Amino acid sequence: MSVSDYIPVIGLEIHSELLTKSKVFCTCSAEFGGERNTRCCPVCSGMPGTLPVINQTAVEYAVRAGYALGCSINKFSVFDRKNYFYPDLPKAYQISQMPLPLCINGVVPIDYEENGEKKHKEIRINRIHLEEDAGKLLHDESFAGSLVDFNRCGVPLIEIVSEPDMHSSAEAKAYLETIKSILQYIDISDCKMQEGSLRADVNVSVMEKGATEFGTRTEMKNINSFKAIHNAVEAEAERQIELIEDGEKVVQETRRWDDSKGTSYAMRSKEDA
Ligand code: ADP
Ligand code: MG
Ligand code: ZN
Repeated sequence: MSVSDYIPVIGLEIHSELLTKSKVFCTCSAEFGGERNTRCCPVCSGMPGTLPVINQTAVEYAVRAGYALGCSINKFSVFDRKNYFYPDLPKAYQISQMPLPLCINGVVPIDYEENGEKKHKEIRINRIHLEEDAGKLLHDESFAGSLVDFNRCGVPLIEIVSEPDMHSSAEAKAYLETIKSILQYIDISDCKMQEGSLRADVNVSVMEKGATEFGTRTEMKNINSFKAIHNAVEAEAERQIELIEDGEKVVQETRRWDDSKGTSYAMRSKEDA
């Protein structure tokens, strides 16, 4: 078989930092930057005995995103602890939403051009949930080790999870562009991809034309430009098709996309697969 016998299947998880003055569970400033470790307190740095208090504006912004993306708003929604161990996360868990998010079942119309043809399509949104961002690791060459800046810990994020409804790099790019312009229009995020306030995890699988079941997917984390999403989807679909054509299997894993090299490499196998 050849490349044209396969269809790529793509689903995006888009993270967007909200433009609130303060963080999502404490009163620290949520502004980008600042002198390292000056915008943190016992709550967002995870001291024992502290209690989070929800930022009302963050909830309102997430609900606004839900309405703008055609979602139903859950009147009852729940926060959960997502446990993982990493130095940029002082609590060792992220407050997120798992089974009962704020918004569910949306739809986003996209208009785009592919092979010289104007196209229109609707991409379904599975959910939008509210969560907190992690800190930042700084890898300084003059220093034998890594430093951590907690200023970003607890900055409010929404995660917009699409259904796997996209089938080309052009669709994935158009979807991300559409989400960006909607979030900017409703004024809840500045969507500065270069500062990380808009970033996407890109899930890709391939299936034979006519197949009824999806193939195994991989996920590429924190793609932060339109060029990168285009290149990452193209390269990953090609890599998977080659594996299948060689009689090998696609492994479900998280991969890191290196846009300067135009290639991705395995980071870890899916922790909860
Ligand atoms: P997880 O919680 O492990 O990230 P989800 O079921 O929430 O998994 O899916 C994450 C993303 O992966 C969603 O955007 C979804 O559309 C996409 N996705 C799921 N299955 C596939 C697949 N077979 N191919 C491509 N994308 C997929
Ligand atoms: Mg995921
Ligand atoms: Zn704080």
